[in-house]
Amino acid sequence: MKLEKKARHFARALMAGAVLVLSAPVVVGAETAKDHAAANVQVPGYYRMALGDKVTVTAFYDGPVYLKTSVLNPVEGVDFTSLLQAMSVPVTRDGVQTSVNAYLIQQNGRLTLIDSGASDCFGETLGRLVSNIDASGINPDNIDAVVVTHMHPDHACGAINTDGTAAFRNAEFIAPKADADYWLSDAIAHSVPESERSFFKAAQRAVQPYKAAGRFRTFEKGEPPVPGIQSVDEAGHSPGMTGYLIEGGDKQLLVWGDVIHSHAVQFKHPEVSVVFDHDPKSAVQTRKRILNDVVTGKLWVAAAHLPFPGIGRVVTDGAGYRWVPVEYGAVR
Ligand SMILES: [Zn+2]
Repeated sequence: MKLEKKARHFARALMAGAVLVLSAPVVVGAETAKDHAAANVQVPGYYRMALGDKVTVTAFYDGPVYLKTSVLNPVEGVDFTSLLQAMSVPVTRDGVQTSVNAYLIQQNGRLTLIDSGASDCFGETLGRLVSNIDASGINPDNIDAVVVTHMHPDHACGAINTDGTAAFRNAEFIAPKADADYWLSDAIAHSVPESERSFFKAAQRAVQPYKAAGRFRTFEKGEPPVPGIQSVDEAGHSPGMTGYLIEGGDKQLLVWGDVIHSHAVQFKHPEVSVVFDHDPKSAVQTRKRILNDVVTGKLWVAAAHLPFPGIGRVVTDGAGYRWVPVEYGAVR
């Protein structure tokens, strides 16, 4: 009897529930396991912008690298902690989240990738470039050239897969001559302490399959690496660091490499260098010159280490500068 009573009670409860559902067309709590899983996956890391009607630039996200605030060389009177706090930049145990971006230029029927991310050279958080290129609808096999701003691992390593094969099977690898002469030199690599040799090894490994296939070349300071893209000398952070200027009708874009590592600190204080600077003094001079040039020339900027997509404008702000990121919008 007791069981029968329970069953009747259950049936009544079900009926009540059914009535409740029928009388309440707005169903609360319909999230499925699939919806829940989707909430934990980021959108693909690419962003497009047109330069005039003939050139398109696509920013690609390779992932984040975490930099300790100790990579910033101290300057008297500049308080890094308060500058980071003023921009609400979280400083975690791992350091400050710093974006690694690369840029694809589509013009005259050519695909030129500027910088290539880090592949497996800088840990597991990086190395997403190729999957983001795929997600954007571009076939990596169609990329004609990989042009690097400089040969540090977070710019050059992504030209190869983790097994050492070329990530861009039909591309040339093109580097500024002064940078290639430095980072690909065995003599220089052997002249530095063992602890500093990893960047040399990474650069040599990145170009290896391209060299073997006869598809590696360099260009002299001031020369265009490929038709339609001008080079801009940015030596300092690396011996031959180079920015790339692209004319797109009403807009001009400078893909500037590593002019800024910490947006919260170095726009306001361009005099702050970083420990990775090959020549900190000329890195500071380059930063000051480039910041002035992009403001006076009203250039758009695409920046390897500014928050993704790293595209925006620079404006003056007091004695320093301020970054104005691009607003999300249609390509054209
Ligand atoms: Zn870098």
